Amino acid sequence: MQPKPQIGNLPVYQPGKPIEEVKRELGLDQVIKLASNENPYGSSPAVKEAIQAELSSLSLYPDGSAVELTRALARHTGVQEDQIIFGCGSDEIIALIARAFLMSGDENIMADQTFSVYRSNADIEGAVSVEVPLVDGTHDLSAMLSHVNDRTKIIWVCNPNNPTGTIVSEEELTAFLDRVPGHVMVVLDEAYYEYVTDSSYPSSIPLLSRYSNLVVLRTFSKIYGIASLRVGYGIAQPEIIRLINQVREPFNTSRIGQAAAVAALDDQAFVKECRTKNAAGIEYLQKEFKRLGLAAFPAHGNFILVDVGLPSKEVFQSLLHKGVIVRAGFEKYPTCIRVTVGSQSQNEIFISALEQVL
Ligand code: PMP
Repeated sequence: MQPKPQIGNLPVYQPGKPIEEVKRELGLDQVIKLASNENPYGSSPAVKEAIQAELSSLSLYPDGSAVELTRALARHTGVQEDQIIFGCGSDEIIALIARAFLMSGDENIMADQTFSVYRSNADIEGAVSVEVPLVDGTHDLSAMLSHVNDRTKIIWVCNPNNPTGTIVSEEELTAFLDRVPGHVMVVLDEAYYEYVTDSSYPSSIPLLSRYSNLVVLRTFSKIYGIASLRVGYGIAQPEIIRLINQVREPFNTSRIGQAAAVAALDDQAFVKECRTKNAAGIEYLQKEFKRLGLAAFPAHGNFILVDVGLPSKEVFQSLLHKGVIVRAGFEKYPTCIRVTVGSQSQNEIFISALEQVL
């Protein structure tokens, strides 16, 4: 059996270790996971009620067009319903964009340390990925532009960038979009959009009417706290959404996921509360890093990349033995770990463990 040539050597994606596995392997009673940028406060109570109401319909397929959720999101964002597509997480939207727009030999441009799913999906399609160095952990949009040629199909901009947490401002973004040629799609991944409090951060939805090649990605996995239900979305001009829909599986989001997302969207007080607590958590962690003499990147999402001055995989292992799971092994940042901003007590446990292992 022969796979497509580009599939042969692709690695299988390794997500962070689950809590139960770490407990079992290391014989620990207490383990906290600050590795996958999940919401430490769970989700809105309204989500559980919405799920409860769906439990009598488990034998039914979901609405393949997610009409009710589309309507709710159109109302929430102010875009037209035909500008929205839902996926099994925004991961799936990324895969669908690659499936619809990248062919073998095409080029796509991304930062040299960013969300790895852009690269893995480009690899699957046989496209060439041009990885442009971050500058101080931030996208260098001019350098990215300088790599555009006739074969370029997509530029991926992760804002805030995972794992560095940095943002590009509205001014930087629009100056960049003004110069991107029409044959190139810009995918603006805003998975952490709701966490950002910096006033220079772009309002990207109004930009969609100015730039017809722009796609904005967001998710219900982060601040809305329903990562396990796998609901993410893309917003763009109807023509782009129609093309992505053409390569989508018919029932890619579940009934429970759709109902939960409608309820989650409806509880903006919960979102606001999480944003406020997250900002306080960032402040606490940055203050503690300073006390410990550690340099950290400015954080705009719900995670911080901090330089621990030692090989990150060693620090990862030491923290694991203390019952704290973080993320390490970023190729361009070999002495940095990425930690999710947890609840105050989780943050304190993490800092205390970090202090002991350094
Ligand atoms: N984009 C970025 C930048 C992310 O960090 C993540 C989650 N780790 C995703 C997209 C995908 O999230 P989901 O598939 O859960 O929507």
